[in-house]
Amino acid sequence: MTARVLVVDDVPANVKLLEAKLSAEYYEVITAVNGQQAIEVAEAEMPDIILLDVMMPIMDGFTACRKLKENERLRHIPIIMVTALDQPSDRVQGLMSGADDFISKPIKNNPLFPRVRSLIRLKMMTDELRARDLTGQNLGLGDLPGWEDSGDIKGRILIVDDQARSSGRVSGALNEAGHQAQIVDDPAEALRQGKAGAFDLIIVSLSIRNYDGLRLCSQFRTAEETRNVPLLIIVEDSEDSRLARGLDMGINDYLVRPIESNELFARIRTQLRWHRYEDRLRRNLHLSLQMAVTDALTGLYNRRYMETHLQIQTARAKEEERPISLLMIDIDFFKNINDAHGHDAGDKILKQFASGISRNIRGIDLACRFGGEEFVVIMPETDMAIASLVAERIRQHTETFSFDIGGGEPVQVTASIGVTSLMGADDTPEAILKRADQALYRAKHEGRNRVSEHIV
Ligand code: GH3
Ligand code: MG
Ligand code: MG
Repeated sequence: MTARVLVVDDVPANVKLLEAKLSAEYYEVITAVNGQQAIEVAEAEMPDIILLDVMMPIMDGFTACRKLKENERLRHIPIIMVTALDQPSDRVQGLMSGADDFISKPIKNNPLFPRVRSLIRLKMMTDELRARDLTGQNLGLGDLPGWEDSGDIKGRILIVDDQARSSGRVSGALNEAGHQAQIVDDPAEALRQGKAGAFDLIIVSLSIRNYDGLRLCSQFRTAEETRNVPLLIIVEDSEDSRLARGLDMGINDYLVRPIESNELFARIRTQLRWHRYEDRLRRNLHLSLQMAVTDALTGLYNRRYMETHLQIQTARAKEEERPISLLMIDIDFFKNINDAHGHDAGDKILKQFASGISRNIRGIDLACRFGGEEFVVIMPETDMAIASLVAERIRQHTETFSFDIGGGEPVQVTASIGVTSLMGADDTPEAILKRADQALYRAKHEGRNRVSEHIV
């Protein structure tokens, strides 16, 4: 996995050292010598990750970090603060200013690369989601969700640890801070609860007796329900190699015992923020997909989706030699209704008409808005006789339904319906739609408010 790394440090020797290490791992390295320049370079080069020194002239690392995270275009780039200071309070200040991780000089290879890899992975996934979200936006499907900036994100947190005193302290502190923390000391039970519990974050101690905590992490990573939940591990000071393996496996962050509560809060806050952001991107994506296949006014499927679905269903019906039928439904004299009551009233009628169709078909049938006041229903496993009965039911429902136009008298409308079914192995979706349209035309021609079967 290659990536572009921005190294920011005012001491040329430090830059050289990091540049050499990173280049040896085939990262592309770009550099800046103070906070101000870091922002400019980031704007111009869009790095995948930023290694940011703390003490620099002109603009220090904390300030630069805060500014980067305030910048709409740059805030999703992970930042690792690099400093000679190793005081918990500096770590906390770094994390509070929005940094995603923290390492101290002198930098050994070991802790640096797993962290860089882990954060780049996070960034790549977010990039992918952002790209899809952008596609949705270009299709006019809503805005890119913002990065939640409030310092006050609270979440449901599962703590897996069998050291009662330590876990009790952690959960007590978290609950006091407004999170909802829950402790489990048994790994199997933890997996069960983690899957069932809709947690925003899971903390796993690697020193659980008689059990490999990394295995539990890998199980959380593989399970559908917990795949995207951030994982934070608790390690002992001496566990560098297991920590590195954990980060490579997809652990999001870690804490070293003894746990310092401000650092705990800061790291949790960072993870919850990423998680919320990703969640919103994912939800947006889901929404975009849904909007791409549905008709905005009626909520039914749109024509494009129906046509794809009809292709698939026709092929399957032919292969399995099962029947499939299709209705084409058109509201009678709808132009007159618009003229008499206005376009908005027409829209209200279309919505109620669509839900009338939905209520009169089965779950496996697919209803779509074919265009204007025309609708199509695809009915798998249904022959012509049954399809005609369903069509008649829809016709009667329409005829007797009082359409509410939001003021004044309710409106009565009628509809005409053409019915057709799959005819043999040579039949095609296009031919099916054409026959349904011809049948509909005949229903109109013969006086409207009626069902007409296709004539071969
Ligand atoms: P027919 O019985 O022959 O179907 O007559 P009709 O008036 O329903 O048919 P025509 O195709 O001439 O007119 C359809 C009308 O449907 C014209 C258009 O204004 C109206 N219409 C199409 N889409 C919409 C819509 O989204 N909202 C509203 N309010 N009206 C629509
Ligand atoms: Mg019409
Ligand atoms: Mg029409």
